[in-house]
Amino acid sequence: MNKKTVRDIDVRGKRVLVRVDFNVPLKDGQVTDDTRIRAALPTIRYLIDHGARVILCSHLGRPKGGPQPEFRMDPVARRLGDLLKQPVAKTGDCVGPEVEAAVAALKPGDVLLLENTRFHKEEEKNDPAFARQLAALADVYVNDAFGSAHRAHASTEGVAHYLPAVAGFLMEKELDFLGRALENPDHPFIAILGGAKISDKIGVIRNLLTKVDRLLIGGGMANTFLKAQGYAVGDSLVEDGSLDVARELLQSSAGKIALPVDAVIGDRFDAAAEARTVSVDAVPAGWRILDIGPDTVARFTRALQGVKLVVWNGPMGVFEFPRFATGTFAIARALAESGATTIIGGGDSAAAVEQAGLADKMTHISTGGGASLEFLEGISLPGVAALQDR
Ligand code: ADP
Ligand code: MG
Repeated sequence: MNKKTVRDIDVRGKRVLVRVDFNVPLKDGQVTDDTRIRAALPTIRYLIDHGARVILCSHLGRPKGGPQPEFRMDPVARRLGDLLKQPVAKTGDCVGPEVEAAVAALKPGDVLLLENTRFHKEEEKNDPAFARQLAALADVYVNDAFGSAHRAHASTEGVAHYLPAVAGFLMEKELDFLGRALENPDHPFIAILGGAKISDKIGVIRNLLTKVDRLLIGGGMANTFLKAQGYAVGDSLVEDGSLDVARELLQSSAGKIALPVDAVIGDRFDAAAEARTVSVDAVPAGWRILDIGPDTVARFTRALQGVKLVVWNGPMGVFEFPRFATGTFAIARALAESGATTIIGGGDSAAAVEQAGLADKMTHISTGGGASLEFLEGISLPGVAALQDR
């Protein structure tokens, strides 16, 4: 990675503003999944151990530009304190006199969590005055919020213009692993794409097609490709607006794209739908494709033999319905057993791998849904671009 990290600067005694991704699920004032908090611990611990005064900030949920009690960061501060086994002070805002006083009181090794940055509408507008107010709290800025790096907001991008700005360890790890897919990938390199919509991922398909040896397509997005090839797909999710693009991609891909040959279909979009396995040329009217079938799983699994690098984004079917989760879980298992470097991007794909109980068998599961997609699309992420080059 060509960006400076916390290792490249002196943080001792310094006030270090760290943008983390603490956008965690909450229920009844409790953090229900602390994965993102844990993911930020290496950077926070490093800063504590090196005598920095640590000032953390993040957004949480989608408040409407002002304080809303359900989006306060207090439960996050409590959970972080438990994980660090040290108190984490928490302010009632992210800028202003109370915050300045709390920062002034910090001693080396202390940790302070600021209130939700999105309580100010200036955050999402990337307002320079607001970014400057945040910057004035610190001597150094560290961005460890890969999941927010595709947004040019005040706390993810604007602030980097007013302070020496470097990457945290999570950011570094994400850029290193995802970067492997785009710069000098090991071959054979296969990408597996699925998920709901093709229109979301056309850019990713185009960019990956220039890198991979093969592209396996399943999930809802395969339906549009199948229809583009003339198959009747019944009531399957199809994007008619993308049929031309699908045709063009199939023509230009030089045979790299592999589509499903069979499918598990349902008579309605429902967990209790009746399920049948059919060849893709035999989807009856009124039915819909909700998973890839066993022949497709076998072909995709064979395609993974001897592969060096796999990038997977997008479930192979509606894995939220157990009856239509078989294909997704089978592909997760095939990845786990492939011996390849396996990189998973996308929020739902990460959840599927987790549900399959195979998360610890993957090389890297990205914490950034939208950010990982934009990265794989080859788009420069504003939160990364703003950091100092090495
Ligand atoms: P990710 O978050 O990993 O990028 P997406 O958000 O693109 O993935 O897609 C995930 C969604 O795609 C899941 O909710 C899943 O139910 C849906 N999906 C997968 N296959 C189909 C299908 N055949 N028909 C309808 N929806 C599908
Ligand atoms: Mg998703």
